[in-house]
Amino acid sequence: MPLPLSILEQLLRWEQELDNWPPLQPLLQQRALPVEPLRHPEFQRHGVSVEVLRGDRLHPLVSGNKWFKLKYNLLAARRQRSPALLSFGGPWSNHLHALAAVARLLDWPLRGVVRGEEHHARSTPMLREASAWGMRVETVNRHRYRQLRGQPDLVGAAAHYVIPEGGDNWWGLLGAASMALAISGDPQRFSHVLAAVGTGCTLAGLRLGLPAGVEVLGISALKGAWQLPAMERRMAQLPGPPAPWHLSLAHHRGGFAVADPALLSFMAEFSDNTGLPLEPVYTGKAMLALLDYLARGIIPSGSRVLFVHSGGLQGQRGFRPPESTPNLSR
Ligand SMILES: *Cc1c(COP(=O)(O)O)cnc(C)c1O
Repeated sequence: MPLPLSILEQLLRWEQELDNWPPLQPLLQQRALPVEPLRHPEFQRHGVSVEVLRGDRLHPLVSGNKWFKLKYNLLAARRQRSPALLSFGGPWSNHLHALAAVARLLDWPLRGVVRGEEHHARSTPMLREASAWGMRVETVNRHRYRQLRGQPDLVGAAAHYVIPEGGDNWWGLLGAASMALAISGDPQRFSHVLAAVGTGCTLAGLRLGLPAGVEVLGISALKGAWQLPAMERRMAQLPGPPAPWHLSLAHHRGGFAVADPALLSFMAEFSDNTGLPLEPVYTGKAMLALLDYLARGIIPSGSRVLFVHSGGLQGQRGFRPPESTPNLSR
């Protein structure tokens, strides 16, 4: 296990703390996430077994990896007795949406700083719901957004507990590591674990939480070579002995939230075939990457793969084809 024992003990203590927080119980019922076999002719043809970690089954509103990245942040905020929460995101942010749902469960005031002054509280289904749940939507231009994100004091960090964009901080990373502990059965049985990457917090957390013998493969949903050195730095900072990982920058299909017709028809065919729903921003592209890895022998015959379904299905609503796709570049 690359997860040092001291960290494991810490996580178990925090899980107990969460157990004693009644409004969160609906989110904790599935502490062991379901792992289901996935059958597809291509998997069979390449002699590979694939199972799916159903992060999408966690909760109808707070899906997938977002809850994992939030939960220890919420404990930290409670310990600090913060009167309110503050976070950042784009207008389509799964993170702000999930946080708004949780803040409502906890009846905790939330401010969401949203990138893009052309947006408002009703401009996307995500913001509409988040604001209906009580999130105060504060839209700012991109320059101001970057400034505030880097210096949350300017928006009143003193009076709030600040959760960074995407829930990407040390608590988020430890929460993502606990996702590895939530895999039912022995994770040692997998040769590869494959997950979609945005900030990279989830991938680093999985690397920390999974046994060193499991290779962790990340498929970036974003375009940009800067991600590789950033991920290298992040992985190098993890406690414990180094363990194998790989980040693909070649499967974003044109960039963040760009959905081409081939991707959309693949997703439709795939869920007809397997019964597994995917969304176009993260998990659809990650599944296509898995098929590509099989076709190219990068994941060899005989492998046992765990595909992490990181959720995000609520983000599918209102998704448009490329010509009218809103500019979601980060
Ligand atoms: C946010 C998100 C990711 C990316 O997670 P990171 O920790 O930011 O890398 C992957 N999949 C889905 C469905 C998401 O919503």
